[in-house]
Amino acid sequence: VARSDVHYFGAGPAPLPTNVLEEAAKVLLNYKDKGIGICEISHRSADANEILANTKTSLAKLLDIPDDYEILFLQSGGSGEFSAVVYNLVSIWVEKRRVKAAEQELGSSGSVKSWGDAVFKRLQKEVAEELKLDYLVTGSWSLKASQEAARLVGAEHVNVAVDSRKANDGKFGVIPPESEWTPSKKAAFAYFCDNETVDGVEFPAFPKSLEGEDAPLVVADMSSNFISRKVDVSKYAVIFGGAQKNIGNTGITIVILRKSLLPPASAAADPELLRALGLPVGPIVLDWPTIAKNNSLYNTLPIFDVWIAGQVMSGLESTYGVKKISGQEEVSNDKAAMIYGVLDKYPEVYRVVPHKSARSRMNICFRVGGGDAEKEKAFLTGAEKVGLLGLKGHRSVGGIRASKDNAVSLDGAKKLVAYLEGYAKAV
Ligand code: PLP
Repeated sequence: VARSDVHYFGAGPAPLPTNVLEEAAKVLLNYKDKGIGICEISHRSADANEILANTKTSLAKLLDIPDDYEILFLQSGGSGEFSAVVYNLVSIWVEKRRVKAAEQELGSSGSVKSWGDAVFKRLQKEVAEELKLDYLVTGSWSLKASQEAARLVGAEHVNVAVDSRKANDGKFGVIPPESEWTPSKKAAFAYFCDNETVDGVEFPAFPKSLEGEDAPLVVADMSSNFISRKVDVSKYAVIFGGAQKNIGNTGITIVILRKSLLPPASAAADPELLRALGLPVGPIVLDWPTIAKNNSLYNTLPIFDVWIAGQVMSGLESTYGVKKISGQEEVSNDKAAMIYGVLDKYPEVYRVVPHKSARSRMNICFRVGGGDAEKEKAFLTGAEKVGLLGLKGHRSVGGIRASKDNAVSLDGAKKLVAYLEGYAKAV
C-alpha cells in the first residue's frame, strides 16, 4: 500500500508531512553532506545548536511568542509535564511565600537565606491551609493531570474547580459555564487541557475568569491542538505539549514558559525546605530552571526529533506566510466544519458525542448506529477498505474518532466526508 493511498485519522502519533519524511530519510543517512547522519551527531555540536535555535525561532514566529517567554524542549512526554507542572509551580509558590514570610517575620529583605523557626511555622500553616492547585477537569487528560497532582502533593491540595462529568450524566462532553466553576481564592495555578484528545472536547476560547490582574498562573496542556490556532501566549504562565500530534514525531515535549517564573526573579525553593514541608522534590530532568539554564541540553536531547519539529514548523511558516498560524486555523476550521456538517446531516445514523459548544476541531468523536458494536465495526472495516485508517475511538470510550491533526490534508478530510455520506445513504 502506498502512503498516498491512505489517510490516517489516529490521534497520535499523527501523520507527518510526506516531504518532511522524505528529507528526514536523507538526513538520517547523511546530514548536510557530512558523511554522517543526524542521529549520530553530538547534541552539543554546532549543528545541533543550530537545529535547536532554528526550531525555537520557527515556533516563536508562528505563535508570536513574546520575548519574555522561554521555550524548552524535554523528553518527558505530555504525562511527564503533568508532574513537572506540580513540582515546579509548587516550588515557586513556596519560594514566594518564604520570601514574604521572611520579610514580615524577620523584618528583613527578600534576600534572607536561612529560614528561622517563625518563618518555617508560618509556611507550614500556609501550606496546610492555603496551598491549592486548581484543575478544570473536562476530559480524560485533565483528569489524569489532576490525579497526578493529588498523588504528588495530596488530594487535600487539589481543587477540582470543575468536573464536567457532573453536568453531563457522568460523562465528559461539555464545558460547564464559568459561573458554575468553583475556583480557589488564591490558587498556586489553574490548569486546563485545551483540547481533550480522548473525549473530543476543546475550549472554544481562553476562559474569561482566568484573565485579569487577580488571575492565577494559568497552565494549559496543548498536546493535541498545538499550533492549530492563534493563541495569546501572554495569558498563560505555561503552555506545554508533546510533539507527536501536531508538531513532529514522538520524542520531544515543548514547554513555553513565562521567564519571570525562572531564577533569579523567582528562584525555586530549597529542596531541603520542600522536604521539611512535606512537599515533593522533582527529578532534575523535569526542573524547568535547570533545562532553561542549559538551553534544553542539560541531558541528551533527541536532536532528530527537534529537527523534524523545525521542518514541520518552517513548512507551516512558508505555507501561511504573514498569516502565520491563522492560516492553519482556517484549514482546521474548514476540515472540522466539513466533517461535523455531514455528521449532523444524518442524525439517524450518526451522533456526535460532545455537546455542540465544546466540540473539538481536532478530535471528532461520534457514534454510528446508536453505538451498536456490529455497526461500528462494519463502519470501520468499510473505511479501511477505502484507505481511511485510525478511526477507532479511544479504548476507554469506544465509538469512532476522527483525529485531524495538522498533517491530515483537506483532501483526506474530503475523502472522509465522502465515505460518511456514502455510508449514511447506504444504511
Ligand atoms: N495530554 C494530551 C491532551 C494528550 O492527548 C496526551 C496523549 O495523547 C497526553 C497529554 C500524554 O502525552 P504523552 O503520551 O506524551 O505522555
